[in-house]
Amino acid sequence: MEIKFWGVRGSIPTPITPEQLESKIAAVVQRVKPEDLDSEESRELFISNLPESIINTVGGNTTCVEINLSDGTRIIIDAGTGLRELGRDLMKKREIGREFHIFFTHMHWDHLQGFPFFDPAYLPQNKINFYSPVDKLEEYLNDQMRAPYFPVTMAAMGAKKTFHTVTGDCMRLGNATISWRRVKHPGGCFAYKIEENGRSFIFSTDTELRKKDFEKSKENHDFFYGADILVIDSQYTLDEAIEKYDWGHSSYSQAVEFAATWKIKKLGLFHHEPKYADNKLYSILNSAKWYLSHLDFNDIDVFVTTEGLELEL
Ligand SMILES: [Zn+2]
Ligand SMILES: [Zn+2]
Repeated sequence: MEIKFWGVRGSIPTPITPEQLESKIAAVVQRVKPEDLDSEESRELFISNLPESIINTVGGNTTCVEINLSDGTRIIIDAGTGLRELGRDLMKKREIGREFHIFFTHMHWDHLQGFPFFDPAYLPQNKINFYSPVDKLEEYLNDQMRAPYFPVTMAAMGAKKTFHTVTGDCMRLGNATISWRRVKHPGGCFAYKIEENGRSFIFSTDTELRKKDFEKSKENHDFFYGADILVIDSQYTLDEAIEKYDWGHSSYSQAVEFAATWKIKKLGLFHHEPKYADNKLYSILNSAKWYLSHLDFNDIDVFVTTEGLELEL
């Protein structure tokens, strides 16, 4: 399967600020030496050697992840503002007459807001299947597109729409098995696991890890143990997780301990705190790497999710 991140920011869309942009430019200017500017080659080398925190940005769009299965089945998890970018990309590539499968983790704004701006939903040639373990998904999506909140109703979206309330704890879709699990978050939220050809991707946004999640129960083991990639809410620092107990998010240090507990192979930090700029998020990544090595789990590969990041499993 191929995984692409279109929105990784938590809680609210967070465009880069003029001050943040200026500080990135200042950091580049501070580093450059006259010889770096000598030739096109030296300039390219200089740019390619800049730290990720300067040359890249994690991005400001809220949750949206695209998963393409090997048989071409197209899965999307959550319709945060990143979905708009995905839709624009599909329209640019003239991908028309497609079927989409959109799974929802929960109904908070930052996971729905992009849907009214998903251009493929306006094309009658397209089909969209919506999935959630909770009922009333159709009603909730309709509600956000009602006057006075939005000028266009969902009925004006021409794509064929089918709503599925998923029951039990797993289903088949294309070549994959998709399973889900309730996680702790105000109002409830679900983590999804997608397994295809013996590889597994777990997506657990908006999750406040609890003691129970670390217990060696069969249920936990079956869902988490040995996953190839776990992308999990790590919005907070440890101090914030203590201060914001019960707010429904985890710290990067809890995410690290969790990945170590369940022998996860690759750990992605996700649902980034809106008040944190790139340099802070990359310093959190360094802290997470240090903590993993301190725990003697050097074989877990930890990364910060960024807009546009693509992974292959
Ligand atoms: Zn959220
Ligand atoms: Zn939430």
